[in-house]
Amino acid sequence: MYVARVLYPVEVLGPGKRVGIWFCGCPHRCKGCSNPELWEFQERYKTTPEIIFNLVQSIAKDHTIDGFTVTGGDPMYQAMELQQLLVLLRTISDDIIVYTGYGKNELEPEMLANISVLIDGKYIEELNDNSLLRGSSNQKIYILDKAKESKYKKFFNTETNKIQNFFTSDGVISVGIHRPNF
Ligand code: SF4
Repeated sequence: MYVARVLYPVEVLGPGKRVGIWFCGCPHRCKGCSNPELWEFQERYKTTPEIIFNLVQSIAKDHTIDGFTVTGGDPMYQAMELQQLLVLLRTISDDIIVYTGYGKNELEPEMLANISVLIDGKYIEELNDNSLLRGSSNQKIYILDKAKESKYKKFFNTETNKIQNFFTSDGVISVGIHRPNF
């Protein structure tokens, strides 16, 4: 599998302090995508679910992990590896948001296993309305885990869209739902 980034604490892509995981590889090529550098598989990002899980475990030793946000790239482009990783992550937190450029109706039911919240659809720059969690208004947010409905309802009622910058050895990585032309 190919994963380009693991960041913590991500506080702008879901409730609480989350681990953000950016898959590498995406076939959709949306105009205005904020991560075009993650479209192609890159050998330097080749890894395994176990390696990513070990990294997450090392974070969990000293920090509270309120959930995971898995984005990219398109995690569903590596659906089998994604499921292998999600099974491991759920042993730490079962609050897992997954983004995909595919429509939910294009995905097999087993691809939705272990996902609490799915955000689907390609990004359409002209429909970017500065919303919480979704890049454009055509995308839908599905609360698949009904036990999480009240938590996410509260989140949507109390939070606003924000950007968070991480200063890393690779430079600044700006996380969140950005406005067009960011
Ligand atoms: S699906 Fe997401 S990562 Fe892929 S091109 Fe569209 S906006 Fe970019």
